[in-house]
Amino acid sequence: MTSHPHAFSRYCMHCGQRLTTAIPEGDTKRRMVCLDCGFVHYLNPRPVAGIIPVREDGRLLLVRRTVEPRSGTWVFPGGYMDLGETAEEAAMRETLEEAHLEVADLRLVGVFTRTGPGIVVIVYEGRALGEGAPGHETSEVRWFAPEAIPWDELAFDSTEAALRAWARQRGLDIPEIRAG
Ligand SMILES: [Zn+2]
Repeated sequence: MTSHPHAFSRYCMHCGQRLTTAIPEGDTKRRMVCLDCGFVHYLNPRPVAGIIPVREDGRLLLVRRTVEPRSGTWVFPGGYMDLGETAEEAAMRETLEEAHLEVADLRLVGVFTRTGPGIVVIVYEGRALGEGAPGHETSEVRWFAPEAIPWDELAFDSTEAALRAWARQRGLDIPEIRAG
């Protein structure tokens, strides 16, 4: 998963005038608008798709990140969707790239929003078809028993939320408060 700063032009993509902030007619929020041509530059979150790969013995795979933000922490494979991909395809592609792992039988775990960076994370569980290996932007893959999930070394709040949801759905005991 690469970082996504809210990079946007300060200038109208239609007429080149400088954008300003205003509440467009019929709207309820301040937006970036062009007072010259009326263009409204909406800022929308970007979808990320990821997979919690699970082995037959019940262990799940996490990868250790080698890129900022949160380099060195653990996360399940995932990344930004490309145009033309379904969420499932993006999740499987990222799992191949980051963990050299193929998965099957995807099941939706949930959808988690990171309001700060503007990211919507779509998380599946998938049946692992191999053992995996470190790949793009990862230094290590490790199979964790559910009770050994490194709650205090996870990459993002959404990582924790997704893993908690996954554990709840499996009826597993999870710590109430994150350690550390
Ligand atoms: Zn304009």
